[in-house]
Amino acid sequence: MWDLTPTLDHDPLFVATALVFATLGSALVVTLYGKALDNGGTQRTIWGVIAGIVAGSTIWTTHYIALLGFFTSINRHYYLSTTLGSLVIATMFCVVGLVLASSSTRKWTVEAGGALVGTGIIASHVLSIQALNVIVEKDYEWGRLSCGVLVGILAGVAVTNRRARPLTRFCKYGAVAAMVAGIAVVHYIGVSGLHITPPYGDDWRSDIGLSERYVFLLTLFFGSLTLILGASANSIDSRNAAAQVKQLRHQAFHDTLTGLANRSLLIEKLTECLAPSFSKVAVVSFDLNRLKSINDVYGHDAGDFVLKGIAARLKQILRPDEVLCRVGGDEFVAFKTGIAGHVEAAAFSNRLRDAVIAVIELDGHKLSVGSSIGISLYPDHGGDPNELMVKADLAMYRAKRNAEASALFYDPEIDERNRQRSAISIELRGAMERNQFELYYQRQNRISDGKLVGYEVLLRWYLPSRGYVGPDVFIPIAERDGFINEIGEWVLRRACMEAASWINPMKIAVNVAARQLADDHLPGIVRSALADSGLDASLLEIEITESGIIADEAHALGIIQELKEIGVSIAMDDFGTGYSSLSTLQSFPFDKIKIDKAFIKGVSNNPQSMAIVRSTIMLGKNLGIAVLAEGVESQADLVFLRNEGITLVQGYLYGQPLPSNVLTSQSAFAAGI
Ligand code: C2E
Ligand code: CA
Ligand code: CA
Repeated sequence: MWDLTPTLDHDPLFVATALVFATLGSALVVTLYGKALDNGGTQRTIWGVIAGIVAGSTIWTTHYIALLGFFTSINRHYYLSTTLGSLVIATMFCVVGLVLASSSTRKWTVEAGGALVGTGIIASHVLSIQALNVIVEKDYEWGRLSCGVLVGILAGVAVTNRRARPLTRFCKYGAVAAMVAGIAVVHYIGVSGLHITPPYGDDWRSDIGLSERYVFLLTLFFGSLTLILGASANSIDSRNAAAQVKQLRHQAFHDTLTGLANRSLLIEKLTECLAPSFSKVAVVSFDLNRLKSINDVYGHDAGDFVLKGIAARLKQILRPDEVLCRVGGDEFVAFKTGIAGHVEAAAFSNRLRDAVIAVIELDGHKLSVGSSIGISLYPDHGGDPNELMVKADLAMYRAKRNAEASALFYDPEIDERNRQRSAISIELRGAMERNQFELYYQRQNRISDGKLVGYEVLLRWYLPSRGYVGPDVFIPIAERDGFINEIGEWVLRRACMEAASWINPMKIAVNVAARQLADDHLPGIVRSALADSGLDASLLEIEITESGIIADEAHALGIIQELKEIGVSIAMDDFGTGYSSLSTLQSFPFDKIKIDKAFIKGVSNNPQSMAIVRSTIMLGKNLGIAVLAEGVESQADLVFLRNEGITLVQGYLYGQPLPSNVLTSQSAFAAGI
């Protein structure tokens, strides 16, 4: 029965050619199918169609080359229409299959599409046998043929399944192998199942149709053409994608205005340099002073022009071991590797500075900016890019505050304190919303009979993470960072409310910071705090310090006079610590002078403090202003103050500052003593 043993009768050269085609074509099909999966919409369908065309052509070419290698000694003919028909049918199955298989990776369509590709393999094979024009009976071994059908479909399913649902990155090779194996096995099983019975001896050929020589040329030509076209489409697309990725990467890592690297790239490059560095690296952080003024005066285009000009100049002076980045609007960071120490780092920063501050001409205007520079060193100041940048920044902020120095090195002692302050400042911003402020009240007593005359209101900040933070720490930060007015208003309103609720109304003294005093809204705020709480104006005292007056005396005087018109009294706080205390006392309508606690503590045996206290008391008497001694802690000091004739005292000797609820529960409070 097995008069034809195909495996043995195949010409190895043809088999090898067929295998090369099958492998190249399958690899291309799997790649193109992958492209379809990676794209969406029309692109997906187009790649599915291209993959299908290449798949159909690969299957067809491989079958024909293999078939032509079968009995090469005999020249056979093929029906042209069936030959081409088998190509068309195979291609149709593959196109529909791969478009379907790429429509969704989550659905059964992947496998269904794969099965269609498998069907394409089988159809191409069966038709190619049909195209073989022999005058004998062609008989199929049906068992083998159905086995081939099963293998073909399974192979097709494996192709799309492995590519669309990979478990490892090697699965795509599995998809290629499945396709090659599918084509080869279907061919061999099919051919081995083909039973040709030559009734007329060996002469079973027909010379009708296309001679196999031409069939060979046709398949080779068409197979190569589709492979080349498919591969070209793939290559053009990959190049475009690579160029796009490159461009996107450039955009992601560079600043569009100046073309300089941005923060992300800086960190990447700095990380690369730090790891193997045996020598020091200097990280220089600098910004452009006055760029804002240029923007304001000449417009943003001028600002951009200056930025671009400076960036271009900086680029020119950079050496191979130096990197420069723009990390913010007018902020830059540069680093230099392979330096020996401070001297080289300073030289580098000077070179950068010279390039920054040189004049830039714009429409006849000579524009220039200044620069504050901070420098940190690796490994002295840290081992991590972010840490080094933060430290260079801290030094830069210090340089900004320092009129004399334009470049400063990171100094752990000073800069860490500043960092701590910044951390406090950040937390302080939300303290009010989080209800973290409380008011404490400290007694003020008349010295003659010890009677309670009022309370000083002292702010407390309770932070769950730090506990109580004293006003000495956070008030200066709130003043510096501009939220003292907001906090001060809260204190005023809250203190008036609390005091108004006391059964035994007492005078309260509220501290008002310099910035609050400079604010024209202060009298309005005081008026509304009194009105809202119902507290009598005579029960409110405002404590101001000399720093609140000296900035703009005339303005401060105006505000103070307005406050006095409301009916509140004014106390001069921390007296003795300022410079022009005497003159201010004369020109301002104070109701009280509070001698700073620095002069009270141990006054009974300190001649200098004694002199200040005595002269202040005398001054108060002459000007008709009450004098209060702050920070009275000891009996000895109290005796001295009483003998000197001081009117009022405040200090731990009389009482610690206490919250309103504790204070009002004390029996002394109810009794008013
Ligand atoms: P200050 O106005 O001179 O307040 C008196 C400070 O001395 C308070 O410190 C008080 O607790 C403390 N003190 C009272 N008696 C004694 C004593 O016998 N010995 C010693 N060594 N100290 C005593 P505190 O509460 O820490 O306040 C510090 C500063 O914070 C205040 O100094 C004031 O300048 C500022 N401050 C407090 N609350 C506010 C506020 O609501 N607004 C503003 N702007 N500043 C405030
Ligand atoms: Ca005070
Ligand atoms: Ca004081």
